[in-house]
Amino acid sequence: MSTEEDDVLSLPIYLDNHATTRTDPRVLEAMLPYFSTTYGNAASVSHRFGWDAAEAVERARDRVAALLNADSREIVFTSGATESNNLAIKGALGTVKAKGDHLVTAATEHRAVLDPMKRLAREGWGLTIVPPDSFGLISAGAIEAALTDRTVLVSVMSANNEVGTLNPIRAIGRLCHDRAILFHTDATQAVGKVPLDVQADHVDLLSLSAHKMYGPKGVGALYVRRRDPRVRLSPLFDGGGHERGFRSGTIAVALVVGLGEAAALSALEREEESSRLQALRDRLHAGIAGRVEAIKHNGHPTLRLPGNLNLSFAYVDGEALMMAMRDVAVSSGSACTAADPEPSHVLTAMGLDEEMARASLRFGLGRFTTEEEIDFAIEAVAGAVERLRCMSAAWPIREHDGVGFDSPV
Ligand code: PMP
Repeated sequence: MSTEEDDVLSLPIYLDNHATTRTDPRVLEAMLPYFSTTYGNAASVSHRFGWDAAEAVERARDRVAALLNADSREIVFTSGATESNNLAIKGALGTVKAKGDHLVTAATEHRAVLDPMKRLAREGWGLTIVPPDSFGLISAGAIEAALTDRTVLVSVMSANNEVGTLNPIRAIGRLCHDRAILFHTDATQAVGKVPLDVQADHVDLLSLSAHKMYGPKGVGALYVRRRDPRVRLSPLFDGGGHERGFRSGTIAVALVVGLGEAAALSALEREEESSRLQALRDRLHAGIAGRVEAIKHNGHPTLRLPGNLNLSFAYVDGEALMMAMRDVAVSSGSACTAADPEPSHVLTAMGLDEEMARASLRFGLGRFTTEEEIDFAIEAVAGAVERLRCMSAAWPIREHDGVGFDSPV
């Protein structure tokens, strides 16, 4: 039975779930005791406070491992995906230097992968940055073509944070394993959203972050393969030797418990949630396409995160569009580089011209998105685009043959 309260939309509407997600109330509930009653240091081995904390951390480790089909001893807790990526990339290289000096990554990666890679290139490592196809996809063939007999590490993200495109990581992982090259994947956007299996996917190192999967901000994990091959890592910083020496520093017990709970919930609910989100996403897309002409979908039509929709609106600036619909929280380009005035490096790498890249909006649907919110967003977007185009000097005199748009001009 719906009450009057249920029918009232709470504004603004949050459709920016690639930037971050709301902590699930069940996750918060699970975390609370670790701020109050069970506040011990998980490294304290001499009393119950420490044992209880350590037990909770190990339970969380088991749950994260289970989500990836990994062994618990292969999970290292970190502060988030930025740290996991840096630890994976910089940490692995110290131990493979003797084998080669060449790295491969993709142009569509998050800066938390691209920037460490570029730093290493400045320090003398060879680096090939593979461009995507027009859907933002990095094929195994494109990676294969970039490999040399000096390549020691390949890093390709599982799912892109702007256009949602899913990369064929199983094929890329197999390629790397056949040649004894380490394979890292930044799976920050994919974990809990699409199936992942570090064994079947031949992944050696995998980064994830709790706040993208309905857990708290400030905690993440790195999967580090222990067998076939055993990956050796040097730590980013030295200290008390926590996390088997890979990551010194007192474990944030409550946050780690939250990550564990979030992982367990995703494992249980992922399939059902994916189909619900995909249906809502398709409703949003169809609703906008039915109301607004001259739009272009960015990303792969099918190999895509269920909650992602990235659209360019010709003759409209994405920033201005966001400002014109303040009741709908979305992002233009990537929130992580919001201070950067350049158009999205992902969209330009996919071949969009600067204008269409700047005309883009990223919608990120999530666990708490409702159908009413989607219908509200469709109206808000259509209204805002219409107002902006009415004010634009270029729109009335447009001379476009419609090529490159999904709907007629
Ligand atoms: N990689 C990807 C693909 C991301 O989307 C993000 C978050 N925007 C990160 C890494 C960084 O994650 P964190 O905030 O946990 O450092």
